[in-house]
Amino acid sequence: MNTEKVGVIVVGGGSAAFEAAVSARQNGAEKVVMLEKAPEPEFGGNARFSHTGFRFVHSGAAEVREFLPDLDESTFRLMHIPPYTKVDFMADLKRVTQNRINQELAETLVNESNEAVHWMRDVGIKWEPANFVVVDGRHYFEPGIVIHTVGGGQGQLFQWREIATRMGIEIRYESRVHALLGNDRRIEGVGVSNPTGEYDLLADAVILCSGGFQANTEMRARYLGPNADLMKVRGSKHNTGEVLHLALALGAKSSGHWQGAHATPIDAKAPDFESPLRSDGRGNSANRYSYQYGITVNSLGQRFFDEGEAHHSYTYAKTGWAVLGQPGGVAYQIFDQKGIRLLRKDRYSAEDAIEASSIAELARKVGIEPAVLAHTVDEFNRAVRETVNFDPTKPDGKCTADLNPRKSNWANRIDEPPFRAYAVTGGITFTFGGLEVNRSAQVINTSGHPIRGLYASGDILGLFYHNYPSCTGQTRNVVFGRLAGKNCL
Ligand SMILES: Cc1cc2nc3c(=O)[nH]c(=O)nc-3n(C[C@H](O)[C@H](O)[C@H](O)COP(=O)(O)OP(=O)(O)OC[C@H]3O[C@@H](n4cnc5c(N)ncnc54)[C@H](O)[C@@H]3O)c2cc1C
Repeated sequence: MNTEKVGVIVVGGGSAAFEAAVSARQNGAEKVVMLEKAPEPEFGGNARFSHTGFRFVHSGAAEVREFLPDLDESTFRLMHIPPYTKVDFMADLKRVTQNRINQELAETLVNESNEAVHWMRDVGIKWEPANFVVVDGRHYFEPGIVIHTVGGGQGQLFQWREIATRMGIEIRYESRVHALLGNDRRIEGVGVSNPTGEYDLLADAVILCSGGFQANTEMRARYLGPNADLMKVRGSKHNTGEVLHLALALGAKSSGHWQGAHATPIDAKAPDFESPLRSDGRGNSANRYSYQYGITVNSLGQRFFDEGEAHHSYTYAKTGWAVLGQPGGVAYQIFDQKGIRLLRKDRYSAEDAIEASSIAELARKVGIEPAVLAHTVDEFNRAVRETVNFDPTKPDGKCTADLNPRKSNWANRIDEPPFRAYAVTGGITFTFGGLEVNRSAQVINTSGHPIRGLYASGDILGLFYHNYPSCTGQTRNVVFGRLAGKNCL
């Protein structure tokens, strides 16, 4: 068996891995090697399929301006950018995880988020405005999410690769880690398989950034429950969880919600793995997140969740589960013209829609009993509180009265034809069960002590429970990746 010794090994080739590798190199690591299981054309993990928005603490417009130096002043002035504070971020994390998130790690994530995103800018990552809705000419963002990387997730990955290569970091593709060498006190290296053979790569520090287990059908069935093996995987097919398994077998402590995962409504026609990208490569065209502007019914024609509970950024990661729980794991998002005017054109194309001039005709085309859908819509329309004004820029309190399930905000009557239906299913993004780390990103063993030399960042961490505030994954990656790179030397 060939053996080689390097300074720092980073397992994975996604955004967390690049952040850890660049941080390690910047902090003085001599030879940093990234091991990416995917072949070069498929490198980069989940970020390839995302626009990679970042949720981070900031003080408002003047600070965000630092990330958008090339944006013309007149466009920038249209952007409504209130501060997003540590208190806001912490409250969001605690609320959506039902207060189960590890308080220490949540504090680390919140407190380090601003510095970490500024660090990305300092090392050369370029930014552009995130998605917004336009009302009276002003651009309104989801709370806390104002920027993403230029070129979306692919853009971020290409930028990272260029920075990493310039810094002398070596990226080995088609290099699958099949063994962790060491024990639950210290790590010594990893076993690597590539198309020509296998070898042991030794180092005093190993940073695990190999993602979740969402692309492993057997593990989904084992941990996430009935029919989870049938879920569509929105991101990389390479995230199959074997490194997580190896770490647990070494004696690492598990953490996070092992029966939980981020699952969102996606186009029912999306492929089983790797949802398609938008034509400009910035994010995913299968996303169906605008359910707050209409109603969602199952194949029986019945509503089954509160489409207006909160901004979609606080509900979308659990709504995929609600859809999967319906007969056949499918549902239909239904909009009238008022809702259609608010849909994102890059995700809700007219070609993908089923359209009709009446609700009964729409039902027939979709395959729902027309009398039931017409009854659902009539009942919904009667329950809408017409005295409250509709306002898509904030939870507007325009709700339904005496209706179960209630719609808490943005409840407009569905009465302006032609109507549209979009068929959706639930797609899994990443799993919530993973490894426990401490504030320094060191992996903890089952006795609660750090395993010397072993660090982790990204979806392999067990951090979230039940739900997730959108765009926290990328921020978690850079916070813990940067800490891992700094502390592992
Ligand atoms: C469609 C979509 C949209 C998203 N949008 C956003 C967003 O806007 N904002 C946000 O914050 N998050 C978003 N996310 C989530 C976010 O992309 C992920 O949380 C994040 O990319 C995880 O990063 P990671 O580096 O931990 O894992 P990944 O990016 O998945 O990378 C894991 C890497 O490990 C490699 N690997 C796996 N096993 C091995 C092995 N045995 N040996 C070597 N390498 C291995 C994989 O090939 C891959 O390169 C989105 C995800 C998807 C799928």
